[in-house]
Amino acid sequence: MSEFDYDLFVIGAGSGGVRAARMAAGFGARVAVAEDRYMGGTCVNVGCVPKKLYVYASEFGKGYKDGRGFGWDSAPASFNWATLRDNKKTEISRLNGIYRNLLGGVDAEIIDGRGSIVDAHTVAVGEQQFSAEKILIATGGWPHIPEFPGSEYAISSNEVFDLEHFPQRLVVVGGGYIAVEFAGIFNGLGAEVTQLYRGPLFLRGFDEDIRTHAAQEIAKTGVDLRFDINVESISRTADGLSLSLTDGSTVAADAVLYATGRKPNLQGLGLEQVNVALDASGTVSVDSHYCTSEPSIFALGDVIGGMELTPVALAEGMTFAREQFGGNANQVDYDFIPTAVFCQPNIGTVGFTEEQARAKFGDISLYKSTFKPMKHTLSGRDEKTFMKLIVDKASDRVVGVHMMGPDAGEIMQGIAIALRAGATKAVFDTTIGIHPTAAEEFVTMREPWTGD
Ligand code: FAD
Ligand code: NDP
Repeated sequence: MSEFDYDLFVIGAGSGGVRAARMAAGFGARVAVAEDRYMGGTCVNVGCVPKKLYVYASEFGKGYKDGRGFGWDSAPASFNWATLRDNKKTEISRLNGIYRNLLGGVDAEIIDGRGSIVDAHTVAVGEQQFSAEKILIATGGWPHIPEFPGSEYAISSNEVFDLEHFPQRLVVVGGGYIAVEFAGIFNGLGAEVTQLYRGPLFLRGFDEDIRTHAAQEIAKTGVDLRFDINVESISRTADGLSLSLTDGSTVAADAVLYATGRKPNLQGLGLEQVNVALDASGTVSVDSHYCTSEPSIFALGDVIGGMELTPVALAEGMTFAREQFGGNANQVDYDFIPTAVFCQPNIGTVGFTEEQARAKFGDISLYKSTFKPMKHTLSGRDEKTFMKLIVDKASDRVVGVHMMGPDAGEIMQGIAIALRAGATKAVFDTTIGIHPTAAEEFVTMREPWTGD
């Protein structure tokens, strides 16, 4: 009999923690999971899932208008925020129950409350203490809002889903995933949206052509997109909020969403009790086995930084459990991880940006295509799709694929498989397209781009 209460004590029942706990328990480990807020973590409660439901909601308005060119007519559609918000709550509660059952089904014990590390083998939850051979920190991240005069009036993605009243005038601050997605959501739902980004062009880290195309397309949808600008202060007014901006102008708003990044959720975790080192950005430092500098304590998911995406946390959770409890050492391959930004239309991307590919491979060729989606020939919507392939000339391997257009997220999943399998441009060229689709353009781009 082990000297510990559990073989594994997981702190945080989010994407990574639940997956690690379920797999470890499936391998026969005695597992406990502490969760202080919501089963399923960020993704299920205030992230991917409610966000995607709201993205769907935001697309109906434009869909009604598109239908007119196809012969459909109806009374002007109206949107009810409370219906969306409350239906979302019901669905998330259902998912919370499923997550609870998933852990119960493998006999992992759920301990409701905030976990705090006492020593290298002990976790406290409230008044109780539990010992474990291994402790896994899977506590995710938390929105970060910078401090400035009036910053207390700003909300984060945690609050935006459940606002009591629909914000007719929304200011979104930031230029990353969350800012771009929520500007699109609220614009689609009928709000007047202003998006403010501190640099010259948003979506830093994405391919330059995608960033430029996204700025053009998003501005066309009606989002008032402003670059090289920031907020100096926010004050309350008789009819809402007033933002003073760095260019001397002011904007009125009913709500201000700050999407200025997330920080690792380590508050009150008791790391000072043990030898768990953090790296320069404040995330937990781990080796390739997700082991921290304290040999019995591991960490994975958003709390260790890297690509902060649910499928990455899931992969890390599985890899950790297999290695520690399944006797099967393996590693997550972080190359060619596809990702999507669910703005309107979507951005889908996998592999290197042009800038990265040039630095890594030197000689590259580019294939680019910009076109009006077939659907919008009749709908009359002014929207363009953009696609780009980046090829390493020496090997002919396709090393980067980027798209902004309808369903880019769906399309990019299949392309990612091809890139991971090492597909060359010749393979793309000999693949027969599916007609008529937008995706077929990826296998029919014949002429390298030679400059505008
Ligand atoms: P989390 O899912 O954050 O789980 C951590 C859990 O730990 C939480 O439940 C928290 O309550 C709990 N916890 C923290 N501290 C303690 C403690 N001391 N004791 C007990 N419990 C604790 N990713 C995608 O791939 N696709 C998307 O479309 C997408 N959309 C997103 C949209 C938004 C608005 C946000 C914020 C994120 C989105 N993400 C998306 C990112 C994704 O949600 C995260 O990458 C993922 O949830 C990380 O999983 P995790 O297990 O590391 O942490
Ligand atoms: P990001 O790091 O993606 O973006 C943060 C943005 O805020 C950047 O544009 C940054 O500017 C800006 N910013 C940072 N600090 C300030 C400041 N003090 N004042 C003004 N602007 C500031 O974070 P998000 O919050 O958007 O999302 C967090 C993570 O969640 C993402 O990186 C992603 O991993 C994940 N996510 C994934 C989604 C998906 O898969 N579809 C959807 C949503 C989130 P700068 O670029 O100049 O630094």
